[in-house]
Amino acid sequence: MKPPPFAYAAPTEVGEAVELLAADGARVLAGGQSLVPLMSARREHPAALVDINRLSALATLETNGDVLAGAIVRADRLARDPAVRGRLAVLADAAARVGHPAVRNRGTVGGNVAFADPANNLPVVAIALDAELTVRSAGGERTLAASDFFRAAYTTALEPGELLCAVRFPGLPDGAGSAYYEVSARSRGWGLAGAAAALWLDADGLIAGARVALGGVGDVPVRVDVDALIGTEPGAEAFAAAGATARTAVAEPRADLQASAEHRRHLAGVVVERALRAAGQRAGGRA
Ligand SMILES: Cc1cc2nc3c(=O)[nH]c(=O)nc-3n(C[C@H](O)[C@H](O)[C@H](O)COP(=O)(O)OP(=O)(O)OC[C@H]3O[C@@H](n4cnc5c(N)ncnc54)[C@H](O)[C@@H]3O)c2cc1C
Repeated sequence: MKPPPFAYAAPTEVGEAVELLAADGARVLAGGQSLVPLMSARREHPAALVDINRLSALATLETNGDVLAGAIVRADRLARDPAVRGRLAVLADAAARVGHPAVRNRGTVGGNVAFADPANNLPVVAIALDAELTVRSAGGERTLAASDFFRAAYTTALEPGELLCAVRFPGLPDGAGSAYYEVSARSRGWGLAGAAAALWLDADGLIAGARVALGGVGDVPVRVDVDALIGTEPGAEAFAAAGATARTAVAEPRADLQASAEHRRHLAGVVVERALRAAGQRAGGRA
């Protein structure tokens, strides 16, 4: 294998970045919050780094209806942006729960999604909202549905040489409420389980539509079928039933030093119920 003719480059144009990424073994460096610790532990050995932090074209955040976040928008910006909170509180919540302030100040939307850590927050929101991901390579551009993007833990549909450029989080119907809720083993740590929920009501105050996704429990985030909520009152009974459904959504929950599979299955129900309750309150429901 021919090594790349550079070890580090910080291009200012997306076209230049994707040309550099075409070199064997070249990797994207975004916020560095996941990649750099892995390199320092000698678990990753990129042949060359393409630092995308100077690509101003990927730093834009549009909030007209949908939320369109460029790949290097930082988690902290998403968490604080009033328009994001107004349109998609679930996204602002999830970004606000990413690590601690230093991680949120550097960690990017693109890195959070592309790294596909099963415990990362933004992939859960992407699945709940049916987000679209725009990727570019030296060969051109393509758009992927979030449901096709996450393949396995730390594995996505990105091909070598592809750069994730932006994530479009579709807006919700007017009056919808949404929320992200997670349970962590320690304050400001990754969630053992996290849920993204959105719901909206009809003129009689009954649930007209709802969306839920669950993360941290399996290797990839999953949608939870909550169609049974439609036509019901937004209250404790309905949300507890959705929580019970969530406990069956992951065939084999992950088990590690922090939580057993059985505990993660239990938490799946807890986080879904609480995310729906918070979404219901924001939608003006009687949760
Ligand atoms: C102490 C600590 C606590 C954390 N807690 C949480 C948490 O609670 N919740 C949470 O969600 N995350 C958490 N994180 C992870 C954090 O969100 C990371 O920022 C994120 O996982 C990676 O984003 P990054 O921009 O830092 O990417 P990097 O570390 O720069 O890159 C990560 C990987 O993604 C690839 N990549 C990055 N951007 C792109 C792109 N645009 N296109 C293609 N490939 C790309 C890189 O090549 C690399 O393989 C935590 C991190 C730390 C250090």
